[in-house]
Amino acid sequence: LSRDLESLRDLPCETLDGHRLPLYVNTGLMADVARSLEQGAEGVGLYRTEVPFLLRERFPSEEEQRQIYRNQLEAFAPRPVTMRTLDIGGDKALPYFPIDEDNPFLGWRGIRVTLDHPEIFLAQVRAMIKANAGLNNLSIMLPMICNVSELDEALQLIHRSHEEILQEGVDASPPRIGVMVEVPSAVYQAQGLARRVDFLSVGSNDLTQYLLAVDRNNARVADLYHAMHPAVLHALNTVAQAARSEGKQVSICGELAGEPEGAVLLLAMGYDVLSMNATSLPKVKNALRNIHRAEARELLAEVLVMERAEDIHACVVGFLADHG
Ligand code: PEP
Ligand code: MG
Repeated sequence: LSRDLESLRDLPCETLDGHRLPLYVNTGLMADVARSLEQGAEGVGLYRTEVPFLLRERFPSEEEQRQIYRNQLEAFAPRPVTMRTLDIGGDKALPYFPIDEDNPFLGWRGIRVTLDHPEIFLAQVRAMIKANAGLNNLSIMLPMICNVSELDEALQLIHRSHEEILQEGVDASPPRIGVMVEVPSAVYQAQGLARRVDFLSVGSNDLTQYLLAVDRNNARVADLYHAMHPAVLHALNTVAQAARSEGKQVSICGELAGEPEGAVLLLAMGYDVLSMNATSLPKVKNALRNIHRAEARELLAEVLVMERAEDIHACVVGFLADHG
């Protein structure tokens, strides 16, 4: 089977009825690059910039960051690379920037930190935009957005950075910009968020955690953490519809996209891109190449009226077993 999966690399991710669904990868380490290209990744849906920050003893300078980002953009060019601005706090701590809180997942994390420290945000965004000069495959993505004001503030900083870089004489095109939908308020405001940007990308790991009030890293409640909970699936469906109503691209970069059972439902909902760990890519591609989108849509209609995650999961597993 693993040899069969390997030979999949150069085949498109396309359903039996001819629907293309590009598979992207989540990256962080430089080692992810080779792995991703080996598996035939069509782009990067989430480059976690915390990772290079974690490998250092202090904040990397703008120029250091420019080089790191340039390497990432060059390695994948002309494929698109989606770089997320720093998402620290919560479960992601930088040793040289301690945040001590009772409820870190509800505290100072993601965009909240970087809007309070615009010097961190600006250095990062400037480095990304400069790194993109001559390549033009950069998208910038904002984590943990909870309202439109945060987004407007971040957009202003990005536009200002771009203008300043042009004035400095660097011929850099404006980046595509997207928002992560990973808190419940963003689901309900998905349309307004989508209107302001080029794309939405669901972070289903955090979205599941926040919708179900289950710490994603707490073993004691791990059996309650279920990305196929009906509430999560309805949220995912709502986000896809909201993006579509604004004519914007919608993708997903949480772990759910890397499971064949999740991928089938996301295909049916109309997600334009699935982004996952490189190791998941072959099995997801294999599953999608063996089904019709029309059948996946029928399956989705069936599971969206179910009330239990276990029933939904069993139903999708059964569907896939019939379409091996
Ligand atoms: C997510 O929350 O689903 C996500 C992709 O981001 P992270 O796992 O880095 O929080
Ligand atoms: Mg997240």
